[in-house]
Amino acid sequence: MNPSPRLLVVDDEEANRDMLARRLERSGFRVDTVEDGARALDLLRNCEYDAVLLDSMMPGMSGSEVLRLLRAVHDPEQLPVIMVTAVTESRKIAEAIDLGANDYVTKPIDFPVALARIRSQVARKRAESERRASEERYALAARSANDGLWDWDLLSGVVYYSPRWKEMLGLENGAVGETPEEWFGRVYSDDRPELDQCLRGHLDNHSEVFEHAYRMRHQDGSCRWMLTRGLAVRDAEGRAIRMAGSQSDVTAKVTTDQLTGLGNRTLLVDRLDTAMGRFARSGQPAALLFVDLDRFKLVNDSLGHVAGDGLLRQAAMRLSEAMHPFQASAVVRLGGDEFAILLVGVEDEKTPMAAAEAVNAALRPMYRLDGRTVYCTASVGVALIGPGHKSPDEVIRDADTAMYAAKAAGKGRACLFDASMRDRAKIRLEIESEMTQAIAKGEFTVFYQPRVYLRTARICGFEALVRWRHPVRGLISPDEFIPIAEETGFINELGLWVLRESCRQMKQWQDQYPEARDFDISVNVSPRQCRDGDLVDQVSQVLKETGLAASSLQLEVTETLLLADMAEARELLNALKALGVGLKIDDFGTGYSCLRYLHQLPFDSLKIDRSFTFNLCSGDRDSHELVKTIVRMAQNLRLEAIAEGVENVEQIEYLREAGCEFGQGFYYSKPVNAGAAEELIRSQGGETAREICS
Ligand code: C2E
Ligand code: MG
Ligand code: MG
Repeated sequence: MNPSPRLLVVDDEEANRDMLARRLERSGFRVDTVEDGARALDLLRNCEYDAVLLDSMMPGMSGSEVLRLLRAVHDPEQLPVIMVTAVTESRKIAEAIDLGANDYVTKPIDFPVALARIRSQVARKRAESERRASEERYALAARSANDGLWDWDLLSGVVYYSPRWKEMLGLENGAVGETPEEWFGRVYSDDRPELDQCLRGHLDNHSEVFEHAYRMRHQDGSCRWMLTRGLAVRDAEGRAIRMAGSQSDVTAKVTTDQLTGLGNRTLLVDRLDTAMGRFARSGQPAALLFVDLDRFKLVNDSLGHVAGDGLLRQAAMRLSEAMHPFQASAVVRLGGDEFAILLVGVEDEKTPMAAAEAVNAALRPMYRLDGRTVYCTASVGVALIGPGHKSPDEVIRDADTAMYAAKAAGKGRACLFDASMRDRAKIRLEIESEMTQAIAKGEFTVFYQPRVYLRTARICGFEALVRWRHPVRGLISPDEFIPIAEETGFINELGLWVLRESCRQMKQWQDQYPEARDFDISVNVSPRQCRDGDLVDQVSQVLKETGLAASSLQLEVTETLLLADMAEARELLNALKALGVGLKIDDFGTGYSCLRYLHQLPFDSLKIDRSFTFNLCSGDRDSHELVKTIVRMAQNLRLEAIAEGVENVEQIEYLREAGCEFGQGFYYSKPVNAGAAEELIRSQGGETAREICS
């Protein structure tokens, strides 16, 4: 509540002073009295009054003189002064008004009239200071929030834009009119429908406050993300007649990647949009680099997310430093382990390809994560902005496609986009959608590749390798569709189908051929199957269905899975082991195996990755040593060692020498269909391999 108004009465005659003061106090005012101008000015310096009643006729300093001095400091809105004059002094009254008196009363004082005038002045002064205070508060809040303000009279269509509002868009104060077009004309056309809808919703009273973020074009051509908040003022019928609110620039917040501090996808899209505009107008070329870290998933899965995040942060820092000389228009993280770099003003593909080189040169040196050493390269796709591109997404898509090509060509490389790649990307999409129908259509088939005793070259089992007989594209290799199936989750369905089919087949061979009695069947299990599905139930169900002995089934898992979550992996493997099936580590040596844990897991064998076997024939001494070490380690852990990718006699000799017992590879047989596998079984003769060996 406001305190009662405070008045100062200045009069040299004591009787006048006291009578006036008493009557005013009875009417609810607080009143101070002084007998001359000097004292009055003194008091006014230190106290705040709601009004002054000033006698014009005083000895010494006259009322007019006091008024003049007082007005030098206090303006009429802040301190109303009511002159008290004799009726006859009309000249004095005019002079006082000129000097800044707000009103006057005449002597002898007609109290009710004086009271009304005083009250009116006090009310005006109070309203004025209220307005000032709120304006100051408003200005303060606005300044501290760094917001621009707008106030839209919906009836006249006039919009007030605050200087800050204009400044945020790089506009001169005078250069902006008062139409809504000044605002909406700067909004990106793609963002208009949603903004309009949101605004309309608020005006129609469907939302309590209006709040929406959208893009606006800055005067310098760049894109700014504005968050606008507002509130409608409504008439008695609830119709919006006015709307006012604030505008904040949230560009930095909206366009920053929280993890790395680089820009994010939003920023890239904005910058690409600008670059495409320039390309369309003036032909200024630009290129986009799509960067995907190779084998990042492996680091993430084996060392954990914290280490993974650490790697991303370090990689981001290296990337942005490496792009300095190229004056990249944007270096962003798109998400996961994907980054992108926009280069503007590049003449041809030479500069972006050189930038791609620089990316890999920067990423290649080792990273220390959690006391571990990790290496990381990237596959880079490069796309030049061309007349065929209609939206930023299309440029990103092309660079992404080129990145896939780089990955397929072997990691740590860069590829320039060309149109034939788009066709391949289309194929990938088709594969994704057709795959789901392919089981029902009977298009999948299992091929079998024998595993042999290296000493005798006799078969001891088969590995089941799935193939897709596509009605148009022919036989598709699992390397092409397994990663897609893994991504989409279809692998769960497909994996179960392969398991059932190959167990059924092996059981049939065992029953049919005495030489196959001791054979086992190895089935690949992908990490996703281990994570998502009820693998243990599925395996036990399939064994029951097909009648195959658990000991005749081997499951192959890769190191990647094992170390994703050690405890979970151990639990799953133990449960599988409890069913009686065998367990193999596939592609051993390609992941970040933690050897320490290996002995704690119930594995029976490890498959030495074919890249090691491959190098054996090149006479590479290091590879010889490496294979020897792996075999020795396997023996120590009581694991069977199986060499993958055996292609020639030289390799076999070396593997035998190193003490490796089993092998698998084209030298013995490529993966073949069931009919051809049967031929292989028959060619073994009556005895089983184990019998010969023992
Ligand atoms: P993998 O499990 O390591 O299978 C061995 C791969 O090496 C097979 O490729 C095989 O054809 C190939 N290979 C065998 N011997 C040689 C050789 O002497 N030289 C060379 N250069 N290569 C050889 P494939 O059949 O194309 O399978 C590729 C990968 O696809 C497999 O690698 C496996 O990881 C995956 N895969 C295949 N079938 C399935 C399946 O049913 N389920 C799952 N989850 N993955 C599967
Ligand atoms: Mg395998
Ligand atoms: Mg393998």
